[in-house]
Amino acid sequence: EENGDGGAASEPAPTAERPTDGESPPADGPVKIGFSMDTLLEERWRKDRDLFKAAAEALGAEVDILAADGDDALQIAQAETLISRGVDLLVIVPHNAEAMATIVQKAHAADVKVLAYDRLVRNANVDMYVSFDNVRVGELQAEAITKLAPRGNYAYIGGAETDNNARLLKQGVFNVLQPRIDSGDIRIVYDQWTENWEPANAFENMQAALEANGNAIDAVIAANDATADAVIEALATRGLAGKVPVAGQDADLTAAQHIVEGTQTMTVYKPIQSLAQAAAELAVKLASGAAVTANRSIPNGKADVPALLLAPIAVDRATIDDTIIADGFHSREDVYKNV
Ligand code: BGC
Repeated sequence: EENGDGGAASEPAPTAERPTDGESPPADGPVKIGFSMDTLLEERWRKDRDLFKAAAEALGAEVDILAADGDDALQIAQAETLISRGVDLLVIVPHNAEAMATIVQKAHAADVKVLAYDRLVRNANVDMYVSFDNVRVGELQAEAITKLAPRGNYAYIGGAETDNNARLLKQGVFNVLQPRIDSGDIRIVYDQWTENWEPANAFENMQAALEANGNAIDAVIAANDATADAVIEALATRGLAGKVPVAGQDADLTAAQHIVEGTQTMTVYKPIQSLAQAAAELAVKLASGAAVTANRSIPNGKADVPALLLAPIAVDRATIDDTIIADGFHSREDVYKNV
């Protein structure tokens, strides 16, 4: 078994430069990349799709993209379809970190390398992982919010438990909060994952948090902007929007608008263009057996996966013009539309 992971127990250790077996680099014609996405629900993923496609095509590759609407079985079937269509490399944004491990094995058995994009696949010999530093995202959120609310009752509205990023984000938040929890300055009065990252679930959770604490919540950290939006909606039902600091991430347009309106405190901006560009370069190199450079190594339950992690950027009302607007991530006109 030279060319794959057919035997789960005997999978070779991952390296960023798995030696090719002499037949994997595309002999001629463009590199074919399969892009298996979880969802296109949040605004960011539509940018990821478009920017990744453009970046890969600019490098001469062909890209075949399928998105699974948050359905594990469908994502597995789609990834199998991409493998059977003869892609040279598979790029995966897993809906479920554990469920997609089977696809990594199937890809390797077909001599197709796997690049995990934004979210890590767990318990599989992923060839490479490219993302933002998600632990840092959580730290940036908590650093910003503890400045405004150094003590009091905190609610944590987490991401989807099935997404490895949700764990990393939470880890980052608690890296910053823990000393303050230990000193008694901060009390965590609510802490829940948000099933499937769905805003409706985040809304229910935030209502429950407010209910359970008689509205006495002094700060909220939400795992992304879509859940932060739901948190703000829940606060608004009690006249508290704009009175309680709220953190999110993604720099969604709605979040940027909330920041200038004063109902959201901060977001974490992750320049998707940089991620898409880095991923496209890695994908083309990996597909042709060339060496790639990692700056980190991230354990996924099975291996230490070589990773390239980009730096996220904290954004609040004071810095929004010089970051997401200056970059053209959103236009000034759109961001300030309601103020
Ligand atoms: C991503 C976030 C996104 C969330 C929900 C996470 O894995 O890193 O940017 O908001 O998934 O799709």
